[in-house]
Amino acid sequence: MKVLVINCGSSSLKYQVLDMEDESLLAKGLVERIGIPGSILCHEKTGMEKYNLEAPMADHKDAISHVLDALLDKDHGVLKSMDEIGAVGHRVVHAGEKYAYSVLLSQDVIDALTECTDLAPLHNPPNLLGISACKELMPDTFMVGVFDTAFHQTMEPESYIYAIPYEYYEKYKIRRYGFHGTSHKYVAERAAAILGKPVDDFKVITCHLGNGASITAVKNGKSINTSMGFTPLEGLVMGTRSGDLDPAILQFIAEKENMDVFKVTNILNKKSGIYGISGISNDLRDIEKAVLEGNDRALIAVKVFAHRVKSYIGSYMAEMNGVDAIVFTAGIGENDIGMRAQILENMENLGVELDLELNNIRGIETVISKPDSKVKVLLIPTNEELMIARDTNRIVSELK
Ligand code: AMP
Repeated sequence: MKVLVINCGSSSLKYQVLDMEDESLLAKGLVERIGIPGSILCHEKTGMEKYNLEAPMADHKDAISHVLDALLDKDHGVLKSMDEIGAVGHRVVHAGEKYAYSVLLSQDVIDALTECTDLAPLHNPPNLLGISACKELMPDTFMVGVFDTAFHQTMEPESYIYAIPYEYYEKYKIRRYGFHGTSHKYVAERAAAILGKPVDDFKVITCHLGNGASITAVKNGKSINTSMGFTPLEGLVMGTRSGDLDPAILQFIAEKENMDVFKVTNILNKKSGIYGISGISNDLRDIEKAVLEGNDRALIAVKVFAHRVKSYIGSYMAEMNGVDAIVFTAGIGENDIGMRAQILENMENLGVELDLELNNIRGIETVISKPDSKVKVLLIPTNEELMIARDTNRIVSELK
């Protein structure tokens, strides 16, 4: 079966087509500036040059219809007819407490996801727009939802309950949900496979360090704790998000700067993190360049980022009574050699010994710890689209 994977943002859309016979990638692409002048689709058939199409795309339906045209194009396409697509897998950010697994997108499920919109006001609406556009354009094709929050639904209350009046959990479902679940699950399973360990007897800490960053404790294939919380704002320092801080700071800034809570929260989401500390950029490559040029605030940003990740690793090692492995993934985790070294510096007494030569690598699945390191360290490029395609293929194959 061929599966189309769709990941919709508010003004962008990523897609891939995979042939699930051998899990090969047939084509992928990105549409940007949906609903904004200058809409552009960048399509890439595996093994061929990228091809760009600039055309007005007023909404997600317009964008997806151009994607389908590109997939059917006689030169750049990978399909003779849309009937070849057996199912569409949609990335959906938030499923609240409703779904711990991927599910077929029936109208009931879509209604339940719509109810979750107030938990993810920025992310779920574009995801839902993508689903309704695909349903209109491909009314007879199966659609599956794969949720960022699902993998973390195995957490116990001690990990997900906040120490605020319990009625807020009961009334409003305020709790830790966690995100990036598809990525954490993928790299945890890959790590077990690479090390030849059974997933159900394997303790691993997965560090998804990208512009958004989170870290998860995975015990026997299940997420038992994760750093992102009710929203993706909690936890690690990120490109523009603050991560953990004293909640009293909100009121303090609001009073000092004469702002309301929405504005302060916006600052914590969009103007903080690496960008906020350095004042330069949200991209660690720019920050590290500035460090080399002697910029002190850039150096502080790098140190704060590394320190936060290390603190979480230590906490999760305690929570799981030691670990078999630590995995690095996403933009920074896969590419930033110096950051990985800084995070794992001085952890020999905890059994973590990074091999600085093996660590000198980017973007390739590799064990980067010393051969006798008790805790193995791995670099594993994430592949959320493959996970979405696998779940979609499994669910739809079971229907037949
Ligand atoms: P992601 O959100 O996973 O796409 O990661 C994007 C982030 O990865 C960028 O903002 C950079 O901070 C970081 N990144 C990507 N490539 C490198 C690199 N070669 N060295 C350091 N950081 C990188």
